[in-house]
Amino acid sequence: MGPRLESSLGQLGIHSVQGLLFHLPFRYEDRTRIHPVGSLYPGAQVQVEGRVEHSAIVRARRSMLVVVLSDGTGRITLRFFHFRAAQKRQLSQGTRLRCYGEVRAGFQGLEMVHPSYKRILNERDEAVSDRLTPVYPSVEGLGQATWIKITDQALALLESGALELEELLPPDLRGELRTSSLAKAVTFIHRPPAGADVAALVERRHPAQHRLAMEELLAHNLSMQALHQQQRRFHAPVLDKSTAMESEFLRQLPFSLTAAQTRVIDEIHQDLGRDFPMQRLVQGDVGSGKTVVAAMAALRAMGNDYQAAITAPTELLAEQHLRSFTEWLEPMGLKPAWLSSKVTGKAREATLSAIAEGTPLVIGTHALMQEGVHFKRLGLVIVDEQHRFGVHQRLALLDKADKKSLHAHQLIMTATPIPRTLAMTAYAGLETSVIDELPPGRKPVTTVAISNERRRDVLARVAAACEEGKQAYWVCTLIEESDAVKAQAAEDVARELQASLSGVSVGLVHGRMKPGQKQDVMDRFKRGEVQLLVATTVIEVGVDVPNASLMIIENAERLGLAQLHQLRGRVGRGGQQASCVLMFTLPIGSLAKERLNILRQTSDGFRIAEKDLELRGPGEVLGTRQTGMLQFRVADLSRDQRLLECIPPVADRLLAENPGLAEKLVRRWIGDSTKFAGV
Ligand code: ADP
Ligand code: MG
Repeated sequence: MGPRLESSLGQLGIHSVQGLLFHLPFRYEDRTRIHPVGSLYPGAQVQVEGRVEHSAIVRARRSMLVVVLSDGTGRITLRFFHFRAAQKRQLSQGTRLRCYGEVRAGFQGLEMVHPSYKRILNERDEAVSDRLTPVYPSVEGLGQATWIKITDQALALLESGALELEELLPPDLRGELRTSSLAKAVTFIHRPPAGADVAALVERRHPAQHRLAMEELLAHNLSMQALHQQQRRFHAPVLDKSTAMESEFLRQLPFSLTAAQTRVIDEIHQDLGRDFPMQRLVQGDVGSGKTVVAAMAALRAMGNDYQAAITAPTELLAEQHLRSFTEWLEPMGLKPAWLSSKVTGKAREATLSAIAEGTPLVIGTHALMQEGVHFKRLGLVIVDEQHRFGVHQRLALLDKADKKSLHAHQLIMTATPIPRTLAMTAYAGLETSVIDELPPGRKPVTTVAISNERRRDVLARVAAACEEGKQAYWVCTLIEESDAVKAQAAEDVARELQASLSGVSVGLVHGRMKPGQKQDVMDRFKRGEVQLLVATTVIEVGVDVPNASLMIIENAERLGLAQLHQLRGRVGRGGQQASCVLMFTLPIGSLAKERLNILRQTSDGFRIAEKDLELRGPGEVLGTRQTGMLQFRVADLSRDQRLLECIPPVADRLLAENPGLAEKLVRRWIGDSTKFAGV
């Protein structure tokens, strides 16, 4: 193996033949059959063969090579946006061509964009493959042909017995799986033989895949548990004194706590009274009142002369917390300190030294987790909407308490409920509390889906609502665009709305505004001076204006269910009947439609989260797609629910009885990317 290949594989964490064998195909292509062009439909991944009828370089906005292929049953257009001059010559009229790709509906009938293809020049080229073609996750510059070649070599070593894969699954689990040896399962997944159950493989429900998925899920569970178990060995300050601050705080609240809030606060207070760090996850649907619970936790820490820190993933949400806590605590003589990356210069120095001198409560963004922030006596860390942060960021904040070897307690709050199976994996080893009750008097939000062609009607509805003294949000969604583009789009919409809704006062917030400006608009909205608030999805979490009762979400089909549920949770907080309009852009796919329908049918965050997981996968649901956390090789959290059920007890026993095996499993599946803490 040359140095270039070695370094490419290194990028993927592959440093051994064994590592290569556990780098599994993430899908398969079925090149065993040739489909008649006349039988194709959009969305199909197929192989076709025919003669080039026509090929030309078309100069549109970008020039592209367009090839029309015909097999006597129909015609399909092939489009290449990147091509070389030689390619044009190769694909000239009359050439016999075999292509593989996804069929799409184009303006001139069916087409394939950048199919892989080969020319059929002689009889030898004609044979079709007799087995599924694996496709490997790869990096730039490492083609599929290379993957086939090197995995062939690795599999040959396995076959000849020159290499053995150590069996790591405990025997009882293996029994349950009723499958063959590890080597057989690995070989099967790399090279499914002719006649293998294609549908099962593609849907990842083949026994060989289950065999490996079990290991993988176990490994993830073990690594998370180990991380949390290690924390439990540290000492934490015993925060068991209940002070007058707590009862005073409760007395001044304009409402009384729900039974669920009281129960969860009790659970937290019990944990805080122990001499090892609390690691508790609090889940609750939008609007279930997590902030008050956090405040009661923080007050317990402060009452015991320790500092509490609260972090949130966005500036706006952190500011919202700052406001709530200031409002609640200032009358009691407590002023929270504030730190975000936008606090600079003298102000920053002042805040940092206040933190170092022991100011009781600090609120901020992830800036709190950065170097240079030192606490005097950190007793409790509260992480709101944790799944936006990586596990390691969270642990980084804990390390800040590493003075005199006392570790801080930690409370993690999620914005949206997390499906149980996902929680068992992503948060294995954390204690969990659920606030399973909404404050009294909440009415479900009426939700409708309306196409953008009826934008006029929607505007009329907004005008009517504002006329009646109600307030509304108008959310502009643009994903995968820069903040600048999003801000621009929101500004355009605000201008358009102001123009067509004379007499309505329109405000605007987006991520590019200065915190002061943003706050100013939010304040005016809160006071009712702004009736219609145009916003980017920055308002997704935490914004709390009870009088707002109408929510319009543009291009709702682009957002995930959990995100839409969060947004919708911004209305329906006052006593009045609230509604949410999901505007979608035509044409809309059937999957997108199904998703919007789910929101119309239910307001149960747990059900919505389950659906979201099913439809989009765990990376999206947890917001960790970019960070590469929870990317599984064979496991599939929504399909493997049954497997997941049997994982926790096995993991517990393995950690207790055979930590060496546990560590090997983690190495095999997760590698060095997660530190496997000290078992
Ligand atoms: P979330 O769980 O989504 O973070 P918040 O903590 O922001 O919810 O609470 C949502 C709203 O409900 C806030 O206006 C809060 O003051 C209010 N609230 C919280 N608890 C109660 C309660 N027990 N009774 C009435 N209103 C409550
Ligand atoms: Mg909240």
